[in-house]
Amino acid sequence: MARSRLDSVIRRLMAQRDCLNSAAGRVDDMPGLILELGLGNGRTFDHLRGLLPDRDIYVFERKVAAHPDCIPADNRLFLGDLTETLPDAAARLGRSAALVHADIGSGHADIDRELASMLAALLPPLVLPGGLVISDQDIPFENATPLPLPDGVDEGRYYFRRLG
Ligand code: SAM
Repeated sequence: MARSRLDSVIRRLMAQRDCLNSAAGRVDDMPGLILELGLGNGRTFDHLRGLLPDRDIYVFERKVAAHPDCIPADNRLFLGDLTETLPDAAARLGRSAALVHADIGSGHADIDRELASMLAALLPPLVLPGGLVISDQDIPFENATPLPLPDGVDEGRYYFRRLG
């Protein structure tokens, strides 16, 4: 039987969970903040805070519309467009993130590509040397090492990069 759209959604979400689980394991011995870009309905934020309960997680979102149980505290939320909030965060937090998870896809290839290229400049001032960025978009960092995806996750579904 051909794969249904339900099958595709389940596969995509399982891959996303595998990526978060793997990323959390990789930063286990690296102190630092966690940054969640794109709160959406809060699913991945909720998963990350379960995986990394002792870490400070800062969330970036232009408009909060998450499940009420998955809304971060005001002092952990950067509200507004990433092009403005990431520079604010860099000024406030400096290079302090061990892990960034960016799930910012809009489904519009041009918009997503443009945002990804802005993130290539806006994220490094926030990420510790050796910190991990995992993302649904291919962010064209200048100084980053691609890491293998977790077993079973198709190439191009997620991107793992270790920043220099
Ligand atoms: N990870 C979320 C979850 O599990 O529920 C889903 C995130 S959803 C795919 C993408 C989110 O990124 C949207 O909520 C959208 O508002 C946010 N977003 C996209 N571009 C943004 C930008 N330039 N500035 C701030 N937020 C942005």
